[in-house]
Amino acid sequence: MSELLPVLKYPDPFLRRRAAKADPASADVRAMAARMVATMFDQNGLGLAATQVGWDARVAVVSGTGRPGDEIVIINPEVVDAWGSEAREEGCLSFPGVAAVITRRKGVKVRYTTLDGTVREIEDDGMLGRCCLHEIDHLDGVTFLSKMTPADKLANRRALKALEDRAADRASA
Ligand SMILES: [Zn+2]
Repeated sequence: MSELLPVLKYPDPFLRRRAAKADPASADVRAMAARMVATMFDQNGLGLAATQVGWDARVAVVSGTGRPGDEIVIINPEVVDAWGSEAREEGCLSFPGVAAVITRRKGVKVRYTTLDGTVREIEDDGMLGRCCLHEIDHLDGVTFLSKMTPADKLANRRALKALEDRAADRASA
């Protein structure tokens, strides 16, 4: 069992970092990816990006179901095609207690490198595709907060304020 990683919470500035390209051949990437998979399942997430665990690398774990075994480690992912549009509720492990309806492309084709160094594609118009878009946003330093409607920001204001206050308390402690 891989050692779990602490997940950074909003408003940690690392969540706004655009991650650097990763080398799939590096032992570091393999070890960290295993820890990210363990952390994602431990927290019942459908996805986790390296920037959420303070790691500056274009690596994410995605899953369409949240069931162990269904996870895919995507290295240096890129959206190569996208179509349609759909609004659906999302959560994020970096925003506990926050949920919002986010409009994204419905279908997506994502090209990525596997841990074996093979280039593969995911084509999906369900949860897995949405999850890829959410995680690729993280790798670009973008969280779902910037895609929320003003109404959803308002509806989540207490939870967001609580996270900001917790960070401020920690900084002054
Ligand atoms: Zn997220």
